[in-house]
Amino acid sequence: MDVVVAKNKRATLERAEKFISPHYFTDVNLHGRVYPEKIPLTNLKHFATADRIQYQEACRRSFSDAKIGEKFGPLWSTHWFKLEISIPANWVGKEVRLVWDSGSEAMVWQNGEPVQGLSGDCQHRKDFILSQNLTKDELRQTLYIEMACNEMFGGGNGLINPPDENKEFQLSTAEIAVFDRDVYNLITDFELLIGMAKHLSDEDQRTYQALYTANKMVNVCKIDNPKSYKEAHQIALSFFAERNGDSQHTVHAMGHCHIDSAWLWTYDETKRKCARSWSATIRLMDMYPSYTFVCSQAQQYEWVKINYPGLYERMKEKIKASRFIPVGGCWVEMDGNVPSGESFVRQFLVGQKFFQKEFGIKCKEFWLPDTFGYSAQLPQIMNSAGIKRFVTQKLSWNLVNKFPHNTFTWEGIDGSKTLAHFPPGDNYGLQCRIEDLLKTLKNNKDKGRVNSGMMLYGYGDGGGGPTEDMLERLERLQNVDGLPKVTYSTPDKFFEDVEKNSHDLCKWTGELYLELHQGTFTSQAKIKWYNRKLEFLLHNLEFISTAAWVKNTSYRYPQQELSQMWKNFLLNQFHDVLPGSCIDLVAKDAIRFYEEIEVKAEAELKKACMALSAVTDKTSTQPSLMVINTHSWERVEVVALPSSDERETPAKKKQKLSSSLAEVTENVQYAAVKASPYGISHLIEIDVESVKIQQDTSGLIYLQNKHITAQIDQCGRLCSLLHHAADREAIAPSSYGNQFVIFDDVPLFWDAWDVMDYHLETRTAISTVRKPAQIIEKNKLRCAVKVSLQISTDSYIEQVISLDATSTYLKMDTKVHWKENRKFLKVEFPVTVRSMQATYEIQFGHVQRPTHGNTSWDSAKYEVVGHKWADLSEHNWGVAVLNDSKYGHCTQGNVIRLSLLKAAKAPDANADMGYHDFTYAVFPHTGTLQDAGVIQASYDMNNPLQLLPSDGALTQASASLFQVDNVAVILETVKKAEDIDNAIVLRLYEAYGSTVTAKVSSQLPIKTVRRCNILEEELDGNEVKWNNGSVSLSFSPFQIVSLLAFI
Ligand SMILES: [Zn+2]
Repeated sequence: MDVVVAKNKRATLERAEKFISPHYFTDVNLHGRVYPEKIPLTNLKHFATADRIQYQEACRRSFSDAKIGEKFGPLWSTHWFKLEISIPANWVGKEVRLVWDSGSEAMVWQNGEPVQGLSGDCQHRKDFILSQNLTKDELRQTLYIEMACNEMFGGGNGLINPPDENKEFQLSTAEIAVFDRDVYNLITDFELLIGMAKHLSDEDQRTYQALYTANKMVNVCKIDNPKSYKEAHQIALSFFAERNGDSQHTVHAMGHCHIDSAWLWTYDETKRKCARSWSATIRLMDMYPSYTFVCSQAQQYEWVKINYPGLYERMKEKIKASRFIPVGGCWVEMDGNVPSGESFVRQFLVGQKFFQKEFGIKCKEFWLPDTFGYSAQLPQIMNSAGIKRFVTQKLSWNLVNKFPHNTFTWEGIDGSKTLAHFPPGDNYGLQCRIEDLLKTLKNNKDKGRVNSGMMLYGYGDGGGGPTEDMLERLERLQNVDGLPKVTYSTPDKFFEDVEKNSHDLCKWTGELYLELHQGTFTSQAKIKWYNRKLEFLLHNLEFISTAAWVKNTSYRYPQQELSQMWKNFLLNQFHDVLPGSCIDLVAKDAIRFYEEIEVKAEAELKKACMALSAVTDKTSTQPSLMVINTHSWERVEVVALPSSDERETPAKKKQKLSSSLAEVTENVQYAAVKASPYGISHLIEIDVESVKIQQDTSGLIYLQNKHITAQIDQCGRLCSLLHHAADREAIAPSSYGNQFVIFDDVPLFWDAWDVMDYHLETRTAISTVRKPAQIIEKNKLRCAVKVSLQISTDSYIEQVISLDATSTYLKMDTKVHWKENRKFLKVEFPVTVRSMQATYEIQFGHVQRPTHGNTSWDSAKYEVVGHKWADLSEHNWGVAVLNDSKYGHCTQGNVIRLSLLKAAKAPDANADMGYHDFTYAVFPHTGTLQDAGVIQASYDMNNPLQLLPSDGALTQASASLFQVDNVAVILETVKKAEDIDNAIVLRLYEAYGSTVTAKVSSQLPIKTVRRCNILEEELDGNEVKWNNGSVSLSFSPFQIVSLLAFI
């Protein structure tokens, strides 16, 4: 007789939960019955290696006995195991798995190929299917396991703590086991039914239907009668077969595996992470025919291509079948704030070319789910790379304001538009649980406009990707009444759905500012220093090589070399490397890459210069110096003459700087020179009005040239900065410019990432003099003062403040010996300017941000990114601060602040400790920042005129290879086209925020000119008229124009 119980919700729910609990009633529930039979491995052989070696080499090594329960280490080492597996004959016909838990990541190798990653540490992939239906032929198997002594998240104790070098990893499980799929199915069913009963609302019928279905299944299941499992599973399947109505929201589920190219582990470990994660995904694809997976970062594909060619071929098959889907179109998922405009262009150029060449596809969406804010210039650059769609979720991390949309039109500073989607699950590593589906549905802030959302599932950051559990859930959830519809999807299907079915989408104009992680504009200062330096070095090299290639037919353009340099350079722009949120080992790798690029680029530069000077008629046999201007405007500058013909590499110059700042200013000869735009000329000195320096009896030092007079006190502070033409004082009354200030910098958690708003309440001015300001240089072309300040007992600053005869700004070459703990160093300029907005340079343009905190959106921007300059201007008067390697800024009221150094202790315990060199400058001006030449000055300060040896004299005193007749338009890049033998690429942009026409001229033998996109593909119907060596182009504000000029 049936007994009807009036069920209590809590009791019924907990009954179902206990039935699959790993903790309670395990002797009478389903837990532990997934593997009804197990046999520990006895024949375990192993060897250890400090290096990450190839499989073939591992097979040649000698293996010795190892035991289950043994511990292996140290951190980052590798242990190879050889498994001779012998399966009992009575398991034939059953599903048999290897279960392996080494508390670390590992790779299974079978028949010489990497077949699946394991990760015991995160408990999400601990078994490997030896056979789904064991045959007699499969009773004996040999496998190799490459155990990496690191976890998914590296080797720190706690998520972001520095790695623990003494960490050991225990092999707790190594066994073969029978896998009971009926039990596994039931556990999945129960999890989903329990999820619905828990997460759907109490008013919902489905909540109780799910609950009672689960209850019925417990009643049906007889633990001692496995035949009852199938009956219980059928009850679940009937429930999941009840369908939704037509208007139900659609969740586009895409498998994903966010792999940080380096973070809490190194680049080299990432190569193995890719193989572990992607081999697992390929295997799952064979089991689940509908499963789709999206995967970004061309660099990671290239790593797999080089290191795992077999796996790469298997990936290619799935890519061809549109199941393994390359996304993003970039070389790496780069930082979205710090790279220059040209760097952004190259991320897409190198990335899209790779995908095109390898797989015949171009990505249609920009994919940057984990990056710390997004430049307002990205929409235009994306569009020019053939991309009109954008995916991220990072703005859900905002500390203060909730971003109002999930699907919207994102408009850049030039008006370019892109369709942006923030997956409403606020995560790229969901698990296809009921709560993930419901969050994707409920958190969508554009309800009524859009009826679909993306759901990205799969373990991420440290890799991993989707698991069997997630796919089993998805298989059941595709159309279940009460839940959104779920479909295995692709970015293309999702965006097509949105494009077709959404309406009235809202628009967000300008940058996508992340209200968190603003410390990443400053952390790991040396990485940022190199990023800026090499952006200019590569720029110079490309122009000079292009000039040599056009002029000297025997010169070979270093295409291959440049390509490799760019790849490594772009890799370092990854979103945990350039932002400085990586461990010590990664920072070291990054610096090593930079040093290698610098050496190679310098060598190539030298070759190009020799090739250039070789083609000139020798009117003199005397060696001489060439002055090379790699900017598109005429420059008048003071240059320091090298002591010998052999000029020094920047690396050597840096070494000198490190030894003592004073040395570089002694016995140096200077010359004032004029250099024509993109010009290569003799060094010819010109006469300029001298600069003067004097010290008064009170110790104040006065530096004066034609433009400005600076008054410097014993602390090196600016008591006064007078602009002659305007007859105006730039420093605010009763305050000092060039005032160093230090703040406590203890964030809530993300040490290297964050600087919180409350740091501003801990300001301390630095005024302890170590060595008072003194005159160290009194030349008619350059005068300089040196000062040293004590920051604390351990840290100090040495600074040379100098003024050139020709300069419109006062420059501060600064060296800091930095040994602090959670402190933030900045320099302040309180100025005589009143403005509600400050302006900051970004990629190919600039943006304005408030100097006040009126609204929560304004006050959240207490630390913002800027590139080479920041400017605070009122009508007809302003002050700019230029810099050569800094990115963090904070302008509040009339105080311009430049962020200099941070002292985070995690994840790199030694981050930023030691010596730092950097330069900044203060530039008072009349007119607008544009009219005053702030933009050009910032380029010039970053990239001084190049003095290069020439083995003969040039025919012409001066040759200008390119000119632009409108100062608002900057010719940013001159390079040889990647794939076209007879073309060079010119990239120009409108820098002032104005609509203008500019005539671009060249002395090179250019035959025709065509417009192209940033991928260097010709744009249809866009031949431009090249008449007598020039072309007229019109520009809208901040527009980027790329041209192919055919020689
Ligand atoms: Zn990431």
